[in-house]
Amino acid sequence: MENKKTTIVGAGLVGSLLSIYLAKRGYKIDLFERRPDMRKAKISAGKSINLALSDRGWKGLEGVGIADEIKKIAIPMYGRQIHHKDGSTAFQPYGKDNQAIYSVSRAEINMRLMELAEKQDSVKIHFNERCTSIDRTKLEAHFENTETHKTSSVQSDLLFGSDGAFAASRLNLQLTSDRFEYNQHYISAGYKELIIPPGPNGEFMIEKNALHIWPRGSFMMIALPNTDGNFTCTLFFPFEGEKSFATIKTRDDVKKFFDEEFPDAVPLMPTLLDDYMNNPTSSLVTVKCYPWTFDERIALIGDAAHAIVPFYGQGMNCGFEDCVVLNQLIDKHKENWPEILDEYQKLRKPDADAIADLAIMNFVEMRDKTADPKFLLQKKIEARFSSKYPDKWIPLYSMVTYSPHIRYSTALKEGRKQEAIMEKVMAMPEIEQKWDSEEVEKEILKNLK
Ligand SMILES: Cc1cc2nc3c(=O)[nH]c(=O)nc-3n(C[C@H](O)[C@H](O)[C@H](O)COP(=O)(O)OP(=O)(O)OC[C@H]3O[C@@H](n4cnc5c(N)ncnc54)[C@H](O)[C@@H]3O)c2cc1C
Repeated sequence: MENKKTTIVGAGLVGSLLSIYLAKRGYKIDLFERRPDMRKAKISAGKSINLALSDRGWKGLEGVGIADEIKKIAIPMYGRQIHHKDGSTAFQPYGKDNQAIYSVSRAEINMRLMELAEKQDSVKIHFNERCTSIDRTKLEAHFENTETHKTSSVQSDLLFGSDGAFAASRLNLQLTSDRFEYNQHYISAGYKELIIPPGPNGEFMIEKNALHIWPRGSFMMIALPNTDGNFTCTLFFPFEGEKSFATIKTRDDVKKFFDEEFPDAVPLMPTLLDDYMNNPTSSLVTVKCYPWTFDERIALIGDAAHAIVPFYGQGMNCGFEDCVVLNQLIDKHKENWPEILDEYQKLRKPDADAIADLAIMNFVEMRDKTADPKFLLQKKIEARFSSKYPDKWIPLYSMVTYSPHIRYSTALKEGRKQEAIMEKVMAMPEIEQKWDSEEVEKEILKNLK
């Protein structure tokens, strides 16, 4: 591969980061993005979702020396701030020793990644270029300019599809592959973005360094801080049912529903009714597919290979980890791409499947269990045991979020074992009184053997 000419479809979070990784190795990258250059269009507050960036994501950014740049636009969140229906709140730390996850605006991090990509001499981003198809036999991608409607074709030595959950590249590869496995699942809830603006002096109106959750059983609202004092709130809500997008339709419905369910948030949301009526309702999808690589030179990466629901805050982190793994494999296989891509998909597929399942499981935990005293007691027991025996027990959340050396698939397996043990512990008589006793500790140790 003399020229190392590489096409990447989709300049989202993962495509942009991947281009930096490959440029640093001397690859010549053409990155094609369907949308206009978002750095030229002002994005108003509340129009961009926030993402939680955690250790796997940071590792991906550190791998090309750009973590410090991104830290400038990230706000640490040290735990969950739970808002109960009676207006009281409770703080639940995420980990120990000030461990945090970081709130970043998706648009802001995407723009910063594009900027950093363009700083590499060998990366060129082409905007308004929509991939329409891929000719596998020629390793050629076809594009249509969304403004001029002019079509073009680009041939390269390597081709990556990082065009997100509804990837055109994937669809094309699916249609031209025998035995392509594909599974797409929508959960019964969707989401809507709302906003808590800053106070009169630009101040944060609720705790800045926390991820806020209003858990309400079958639904929830969350809020993450933005650097400009705004909080982007997301209402995760069933599409159908008694309390759902189908029933809360008019301004009166919205007012009544929010007053009843989120009374402490309503006074902080002056544009609530307009936001609810005007902002779109979006759906949440899991996509599992296989293979991820084709003809020894084409690969899917990021959401294009594995879209997941957002409840573990891991979609972007997982996509950045794809880049880390790919980079390690380039070293390992000395740029032998057929070998790299073969191992890439075999290694990553079980991990992507695991985090997809964990993300679904965490929906129940966030919307329901974070307000359940029994669940909180279980977490307290686990945290106590883990701090006493750190080599024997890392809580599942910490394995996923703070332990990039542990694979997602291992975390899921260990998490299931831990859950089975905790079920026995929680069934012990008078567990509420003796949760920090030696007896409980012994029970866990016995079951760990
Ligand atoms: C509500 C919500 C909350 C989330 N929260 C978190 C979180 O807290 N933490 C976290 O880690 N992840 C989170 N995620 C997931 C995260 O947003 C995705 O995993 C991440 O954006 C994936 O990056 P990507 O580059 O693979 O895809 P995308 O970011 O979707 O980028 C794909 C790019 O390809 C472009 N494109 C699409 N089609 C074409 C085409 N035909 N031709 C050319 N270009 C094309 C798109 O315009 C886009 O720029 C969340 C997702 C949602 C929906």
